[in-house]
Amino acid sequence: MDFELSELHRMLSESVYDFMVKEIEPIAEQIDREDKIPDWVWKRVGDLGWMGVTVPEQYGGAGMDYLAQCICLEQMSRICPALSLSCHAHSNLCCDNLYRNGTEEQRQKYLPALCSGEKLGALALTEPNAGSDAVGIQMRATKDGSHYLLNGTKTFITNGTVAGVMILYAKTEPGKGAKGITAFIVEPGYEGTFTTRHLEKMGERGSPTGELVFEDYRVPEGNILGELNQGVHVMMGGLDMERVAGTGWTIGIAERAFDLSLQYAKDRVQFGQRIAEFQLVQDKLVEMYVGIESTKLLMYKAATLAAKAERGGKGSEINKVAAAALLMAGQVATQAALHAVQIHGGYSYMLDYPVNRLLRDVKLGEIGAGTTEIRKLIIARELLRD
Ligand SMILES: Cc1cc2nc3c(=O)[nH]c(=O)nc-3n(C[C@H](O)[C@H](O)[C@H](O)COP(=O)(O)OP(=O)(O)OC[C@H]3O[C@@H](n4cnc5c(N)ncnc54)[C@H](O)[C@@H]3O)c2cc1C
Repeated sequence: MDFELSELHRMLSESVYDFMVKEIEPIAEQIDREDKIPDWVWKRVGDLGWMGVTVPEQYGGAGMDYLAQCICLEQMSRICPALSLSCHAHSNLCCDNLYRNGTEEQRQKYLPALCSGEKLGALALTEPNAGSDAVGIQMRATKDGSHYLLNGTKTFITNGTVAGVMILYAKTEPGKGAKGITAFIVEPGYEGTFTTRHLEKMGERGSPTGELVFEDYRVPEGNILGELNQGVHVMMGGLDMERVAGTGWTIGIAERAFDLSLQYAKDRVQFGQRIAEFQLVQDKLVEMYVGIESTKLLMYKAATLAAKAERGGKGSEINKVAAAALLMAGQVATQAALHAVQIHGGYSYMLDYPVNRLLRDVKLGEIGAGTTEIRKLIIARELLRD
């Protein structure tokens, strides 16, 4: 067992962090304030090869593994969790899913423009009345000749308002529950009505989140991703990979909270000494350090398992370990951001101190890709499996 990152992963980690510090940190506050990531960023990240990390090079991707995807998002989150979130939705939820489940024709048609950053990708699962109960979605896809007519609403969709390609789940056999779900590849500009609404958020500002309404929206039947009525496998396998990559996204925020806190504790003087000398402050720093280090070990394990996983979903090892990694990451990162705010005292409330942004950004780590409670239910179900 080797706890060192490979040369390739170490170099990736350094180059992503370097890019983020040089090109994104100067605009991170502006992104949060204006709730917008400038358009040039997508192309730039695409040129650097981080828009399709796990997609093979023949389709324009970087041809790297899930550990690389985790590391990429981790380093992005240290500087700008919102950009990291959008890259997560694009590279992992959309591109990786499309590559794993797509036909050769679909891969060739969609992946190159996604991996270059020319088009943004999204994944539309959640609906106003179906969040944790993902198989309870109500969006309908009704066969009409060589097309399917989409009717329904998706909400909270990252990149949804700007996406050029999205993976979307709909019911093709509503009476059959999980066995009546189909995944589709959907683009804007088809016949029918497709409207979007930008949603204002407390955190992750800059990463566009949208409500999407479809009315008689005609999707060609050739855009079914995977097989008809087998969308639940695309969904569950995709959620496993989302949890693995999401661990990187989440733990990067904790690392930034820790780095800022350690530095501040060394600089800030009260009662004639650095606050880092107070054991109650040290206790918080130690808790952050231990939480981050242990989460990263679980993330490395989950990423390694993901590389070997055929499909994921119920009964697979990756299903349990990915849920455990993200469960831990969400709790550790939320606590780290709270500790960071406490260590910074009143200054944390000032908008020019980035710790308050981290606190607003981090909470999503306990909500997206299955809430803390849902992650626990998954782990318990797998532990109790005969
Ligand atoms: C910023 C942001 C970006 C997002 N991006 C995307 C995206 O790109 N694509 C997408 O499809 N979705 C996205 N989501 C949606 C996200 O995945 C859902 O918000 C999440 O799955 C929870 O669903 P919900 O919000 O409907 O909460 P609910 O399911 O209504 O849950 C509310 C509460 O009830 C609890 N609960 C529910 N069921 C149980 C149970 N069985 N046992 C115990 N407790 C339970 C939950 O844990 C939670 O605390 C995003 C959300 C946000 C906030």
